[in-house]
Amino acid sequence: MSTALVRSLALALLAAAPAAFAQAPGCSPMPPGAVRPGPAFSFNTVKPGIIHAVGTGTMAVGANASIIVNERDLVLVDAGLSPAALCVLLEELKTQTPKPVRTVILTHFHFDHAHGSQVLGPDVEIIGSSFTRAQLAAGNSVRGRGYENFIKTLPAQVAAAKAARDTATDPRRKDALAARITLLEQEILADAAVIPTTPTLTVDDHLTLYRDGREIQVRYIGRAHTGGDLIVYLPRERVVCTGDMLTVGVPFLADGFVREWPATLDRLKQLNFDVVLPGHGAAFKDRERIDWLQAVLGDLQTKVTALHDAKVSVADAAKQLDMRAHAGHYPGLANVGFDPSAVERIYALLDGK
Ligand SMILES: [Zn+2]
Repeated sequence: MSTALVRSLALALLAAAPAAFAQAPGCSPMPPGAVRPGPAFSFNTVKPGIIHAVGTGTMAVGANASIIVNERDLVLVDAGLSPAALCVLLEELKTQTPKPVRTVILTHFHFDHAHGSQVLGPDVEIIGSSFTRAQLAAGNSVRGRGYENFIKTLPAQVAAAKAARDTATDPRRKDALAARITLLEQEILADAAVIPTTPTLTVDDHLTLYRDGREIQVRYIGRAHTGGDLIVYLPRERVVCTGDMLTVGVPFLADGFVREWPATLDRLKQLNFDVVLPGHGAAFKDRERIDWLQAVLGDLQTKVTALHDAKVSVADAAKQLDMRAHAGHYPGLANVGFDPSAVERIYALLDGK
């Protein structure tokens, strides 16, 4: 697809987006990009009153959300990919509970966790670290490697899926591609309506919410996936929401602090929990996943530092990196080579940038 075509498509989508949306919080009318062929979320009640909401794949919703059901209200951890994603979550959540969301905790500033916030009304407190607030205020959730890789490529992904659909002969493959095209086009519409919204309350160390005898700890335990990740810990229920500090796969690393991250995970290990609600992937109980991630991060830091010190270019280092020793825990590492944006990030930190 030509650059001009991409640009005209983007302009057309911008024109279609309601400019006044940010001034009108709420989900009525439903924000653009919410069309889906079936429920967008599955709700996994991991303990009484604690729900992990995971996307089903019918719609691009971004990260998982966690919902803490209190006597009169709900606390929501992470706000999803877009106004549409959060509104669909709130609508489908009515199958679980009629209570309103009064507090939202953003684990970090990334678009797939934070871009639903604008639909929240003035009666909803949005909690984030001051780092998260500064990043959102500076517009850093709509730029950078993650946004470039996952959102800015959407028009090209649509074009590629259309080309594949037009040449496909298997009717089931054609149908699957048509569904994918619809999903991607909805995601483009949803993203065009985003106006990044900042937290109304910042936390730099810890804050505890008390709700009907339940203790909800919001904690900063060190740099990891970003410079200001928050975790949400419920000591009585022994549950922790980790955002992208600890996920089922290897988290996105291009905004991360790979050298410091294992020590932050050591502090996570000191907490007494038996269920982890990650930002991506299903809830899990096996605490050894923390060891697995620490091993990957430590190995990566050592190997990338050696390549950096040998003056190997970022591109060549990314091609050469061999993390296959971890493929048993992370199938995504089964081949030689690694995300260049992660290597670029580690080089930049080594260079003091
Ligand atoms: Zn993230």
